[in-house]
Amino acid sequence: MEDRRCIICGKEDEKGLFIYDSFVCHTCEREMVRTCVDDDKYRFFIQKLKKIWLKQNA
Ligand SMILES: [Zn+2]
Repeated sequence: MEDRRCIICGKEDEKGLFIYDSFVCHTCEREMVRTCVDDDKYRFFIQKLKKIWLKQNA
């Protein structure tokens, strides 16, 4: 079974999307889409996503 633990909130969820091999739940996905670029939360998301990208390029 796939690991469906969200990399952002850490919760397990059936719905969501995979970015490479990392899971983002539908709640966080919606949050990300809604979040403004100058919002603190946006930077938080980007930091999390950067970790995935760095892992992919390692
Ligand atoms: Zn989440």
